[in-house]
Amino acid sequence: MAEVLILNASYEPLQLVSLARAMRLIVTGKAEVLETTDRPLRFATGAMAEPLVLRLFTYVMTRRRLHRPAVSRGRVFTRDREACQYCGATPGRARLTLDHVLPRAQGGATTWENIVACCGPCNARKADRTPEQAGMRLRSAPRQPTVLRLVSADLDRHAAWARYGFCG
Ligand SMILES: [Zn+2]
Repeated sequence: MAEVLILNASYEPLQLVSLARAMRLIVTGKAEVLETTDRPLRFATGAMAEPLVLRLFTYVMTRRRLHRPAVSRGRVFTRDREACQYCGATPGRARLTLDHVLPRAQGGATTWENIVACCGPCNARKADRTPEQAGMRLRSAPRQPTVLRLVSADLDRHAAWARYGFCG
């Protein structure tokens, strides 16, 4: 799923938004396009390059979103560098699944600290058990990433973001 990096008027990174939300910021005149991919988006009325980085015209004070990005499938895969957090396999985004470390059946929540990327075989092996119950070990404790960390993890696919100093 395409995500677009939003910069504050001061060029600080604010948050990642969906392409649809980014398009609304552009057509309502709230943001300018700084970087695009080379993929064109086509409309009935014409075409434009797919945006990758936008800058808001108005300075936004809140920094909460920068530190608390919402959990989503794509972001968990990005945080975990598209690797199964049990065996390290990298079968690609399309074949990765999400695993609740403490299973939902045992009251596990959908939070950054309880969700990891997981390959199909590990998911089948773990089933509705905790890692301890299944005799499996997490490679690292899952944590909530900052938007900056998500962005820097995504640099391979979005090299343009690096030009705004997000190399970490
Ligand atoms: Zn695995």
